[in-house]
Amino acid sequence: MKLEISVIIPVYNEEESIEPLFAALYPVLKSLGRSFEIIFVNDGSRDRSFAMLYDLHKAHAEVRVVDLNGNFGQHMAIMAGFEQARGDKVITLDADLQNPPESIPDILAKMDEGHDVVGSYRMGRQDPLFRKVVSGMANRLTNRMARLDIRDYGCMLRGYDRRIVDIINASCETTTFIPALGRKFAVNSVEIPVPHRAREKGVSKYGIAQLIRLNFDLMTSFTLAPLQMVTVSGMVISVLSFVLVCYIMLRRLIVGPEVEGVFTLMGIQFLLTGITLMSLGITGEYVGRIYREVSRRPRFVVKKTYDHE
Ligand code: UDP
Ligand code: MG
Repeated sequence: MKLEISVIIPVYNEEESIEPLFAALYPVLKSLGRSFEIIFVNDGSRDRSFAMLYDLHKAHAEVRVVDLNGNFGQHMAIMAGFEQARGDKVITLDADLQNPPESIPDILAKMDEGHDVVGSYRMGRQDPLFRKVVSGMANRLTNRMARLDIRDYGCMLRGYDRRIVDIINASCETTTFIPALGRKFAVNSVEIPVPHRAREKGVSKYGIAQLIRLNFDLMTSFTLAPLQMVTVSGMVISVLSFVLVCYIMLRRLIVGPEVEGVFTLMGIQFLLTGITLMSLGITGEYVGRIYREVSRRPRFVVKKTYDHE
């Protein structure tokens, strides 16, 4: 019989959340009256998470566990889950209960209507104000540059049709951002609002450094616009400088030698140095990405999968 639904949950040091998550998730899935599997991907947790997942696997025929050989990050963990998923519809979810499992039937209802990717955005997002403001700006910037229309990049409660999952599995980038990848290939996507709760147990795995890293990866993965901006700003500055040089040469001939505005010159010089360094950094991000791709190391390594039958 064909399996209908796969739910994929990446888990990294979530020992406090696993029990309440499962207690909320399992009845929701049972009540659907459809065949399902839950795939927990253990992303190199160093706490009791794996032991707890293993117990769930032993106790429930629907639970599978993919144990990764280290910490490869949330998106690679989901990728590992995608490769294992057998369901016709695949749903991703965070382990920390910030997206309530009760919203899963809403996602499925939209998928039943024929939408191949069903995204979600957090209503009344319960995160620190600073994070909300920064992520709002990052959402808008990324959408513009990558030509996407994802309302909330941080919301992982999403549904993907089998066809989309197969396409995502076939794209073998070393770093990626799954919701954006799904959206790129979707032909009929939709987004629904979901309630959002504060993280009750454990701590967020994303500090400011990881969030910056994630956004650079998102950028280099989906758009060349920053490189074009570098080129265009270089061209504009060159043209302006050329006009300025002509003007200074003329003044030199007409007015004679002048030494004035040294500080203005320093100011301009600092600005140009800043632009140069930033451009170098942007170029470097893309070069770094190429470096990672050509090194051809596996994106993630599965230590063992725990299946039934
Ligand atoms: N996660 C993971 N690997 C990591 C970091 C996070 O599998 O390296 C999982 C984590 O266990 C959770 C989800 O990804 O299920 C989202 O993480 P978190 O809640 O810390 O992110 P936030 O909600 O703060 O953006
Ligand atoms: Mg979270």
